[in-house]
Amino acid sequence: MKIPFNKMFYSGQEMEYIKDVLEKGQISGDGCYTRYVTSFLENRFNIKKVLMTTSATHALEMAAMLIGLKPGDEVIMPSFTFPSTANAVMLQGAKPVFAEITESTLNIEPKDIENKITHKTKAIIPVHYAGIGCEMDKIMDIARKYNLYVIEDAAQGVNAKYKNKFLGTWGHIGCYSFHATKNYVSGEGGAVAINDLNSDLMEKAEIIRQKGTNRSQFIRGEIDCYSWVNIGSNYVPSDLLMAVLYAQLDQLDYIKFKRKLIYDYYWQHLAPYVKSGIIKRMVTIPQECDSNYHLFYLIFESEKIRDKVIKQLKDKGICAVIHFMPLHSSKMGQKLGYCPEALPLTENTSKCLVRLPMYTNMSEQEMDYVIKSLNIIFKEL
Ligand SMILES: *Cc1c(COP(=O)(O)O)cnc(C)c1O
Repeated sequence: MKIPFNKMFYSGQEMEYIKDVLEKGQISGDGCYTRYVTSFLENRFNIKKVLMTTSATHALEMAAMLIGLKPGDEVIMPSFTFPSTANAVMLQGAKPVFAEITESTLNIEPKDIENKITHKTKAIIPVHYAGIGCEMDKIMDIARKYNLYVIEDAAQGVNAKYKNKFLGTWGHIGCYSFHATKNYVSGEGGAVAINDLNSDLMEKAEIIRQKGTNRSQFIRGEIDCYSWVNIGSNYVPSDLLMAVLYAQLDQLDYIKFKRKLIYDYYWQHLAPYVKSGIIKRMVTIPQECDSNYHLFYLIFESEKIRDKVIKQLKDKGICAVIHFMPLHSSKMGQKLGYCPEALPLTENTSKCLVRLPMYTNMSEQEMDYVIKSLNIIFKEL
């Protein structure tokens, strides 16, 4: 049996919606499917204002511009994340400051955020790893105490909650991804959630997204013509992509339900190995979190064991992968002056972690094959 790491799930409505866009003849951005997905996300997740973007990477870039980051500013984030989190900050000339993670969730450690605050700190970017929420209440308290912005990298956190509030709605700004590898997809795609309506973030965001123009106001019929009003770029996704996303959002609950089944199956069958010590730890959802079951990871005692498990799974046709090469010890991180020892838990975790295949339409036979293969591999470890 061949088990890929990831596989697309189609809700069935994609073709119909794409055809509709083509027939309407409006394939550029901000058409009717963009409006559908925007209001769906706003209503469903209780977000004040959503702006659809071409990716989470672009959503993070917009957020970095929105809070006015400039050279000399520092932004605290985990090293255990995707490069986009740090790039967004660096593109504005600001500096990413990497903090340590918490062992139980692999999310940023609030205490270490506070350790790393200086007079240059402007913002915090918590990353919700595996669709499991960071300790947002503590992080927001720190942000209030030091007057910092919070941008949530909720790329993996769509349709998940921390303490009964959706991820992406805690901070001033939240960033979502609809990349093909995430739970709800448009191929490439993302969104910015603007949660702070007391400032001018909303108005600024519309302008940055629309090439520095007030075109959004024009589309709403609020002004007669639009013009260049500030610096901006183009983060507007094609309505074709938003049609695909709308089809996916049709199945929002089903996708989560199916992923929970896989999560539970893996968890039940692998728990004995955690008890016996063969697996050091595996993904665990804390009580205060409602996850979207984005991914399933195992952590072993050593890099050697982890690599051996990956290789033996591969020999059996199963694709399992390592995840998040820490940013601080990467080539770029070292250019920023970091050494691998700076964040030992991050460094060590990344060396010992493996992600198991997980996709919405994974069949019971496929899950069973992964478990049976692991049973054999673990017996011989
Ligand atoms: C996937 C991911 C991104 C990038 O998302 P894109 O939509 O592909 O740009 C950023 N941050 C994290 C934590 C991610 O997992």
